[in-house]
Amino acid sequence: MLILPKPVDNEFVLGFIGRITHVNLEGSCFKIVRALVAHFNLGMEVTSLRPHYYQAERHIQALALASDKSVDEFLFCHFNFPAERRTPRVAAKWLDRQMCRKNGREYPERKRPYLCRECIPQQVQEFDFPFWHRHHQLPGLYWCPVHKTALLAFDHWLAEDALIPVAALASVRTPATAADFDKYPVLQSFCELMIGSLRRPLWMSVTRIEDCLRRRAIELGLRPDGGDVATVPNDSPFLSDLAFAECPAWWLEEAFGLQRTTVGKGRLALNRVLSGGGRAPPMSYALAIALLFSPRERADILNKSSHLLE
Ligand SMILES: [Zn+2]
Repeated sequence: MLILPKPVDNEFVLGFIGRITHVNLEGSCFKIVRALVAHFNLGMEVTSLRPHYYQAERHIQALALASDKSVDEFLFCHFNFPAERRTPRVAAKWLDRQMCRKNGREYPERKRPYLCRECIPQQVQEFDFPFWHRHHQLPGLYWCPVHKTALLAFDHWLAEDALIPVAALASVRTPATAADFDKYPVLQSFCELMIGSLRRPLWMSVTRIEDCLRRRAIELGLRPDGGDVATVPNDSPFLSDLAFAECPAWWLEEAFGLQRTTVGKGRLALNRVLSGGGRAPPMSYALAIALLFSPRERADILNKSSHLLE
């Protein structure tokens, strides 16, 4: 007889699987998800003949049924894929890969689980247990958006004993510098935009956003990627140069793979947000908006570009 705990708001899917595994005294995430598939009569597990996605999809179906949610609702409430520019199909594959403890090749891929030490007592007070919050797992977020403190990073996602945050607190890595979050307002704006993009993915209206970004960058004297705009002198800075002026270098390196040695060089993934075609990594749009616009202007751009979704 399976015990089926329900996920709480914004509980990250991997942590939720960990909790089901834990309350059922099961040793493996895969075993518990397969037990759910059997429990809800979703068919026999097959190992080699069916496409991998077929199995991954059934795992998500089983988790959604265990949560009393539709598959869409479960995906949109407990994954971060809308902010990471993934489709539900890719999200399903990602989940199975995580359960096999394999890292993917896709960018951005958050390699470690993160949590906020100050959120834990509040979660315990409210729900009687701590959980992995999905906002803390968003790419580029190294601070708790509520407490403004540095998130603690863990070595593995699915070492089963690391699934319950309290038990895992002993194995934390050195956190990011908490003071940076107060010192660099762009980081706070970036966090807000990433969390907002869970509901309203920036890349859904990427052409409009790129137009706004490009116009503003030229107004500010920045060189769009390729540097072929006649009104902008050839020695003007790139967007990535502005990023190095407004953000800590360690963060740009860890979250965006940007090196200080690239200052003055244009052909970087971040700068592609200005060259059109939606070719930049999704979190680059959040950083570019945070760098180029004030909070009031940001709200305006997001409202104008959101009609496609509402
Ligand atoms: Zn917190």
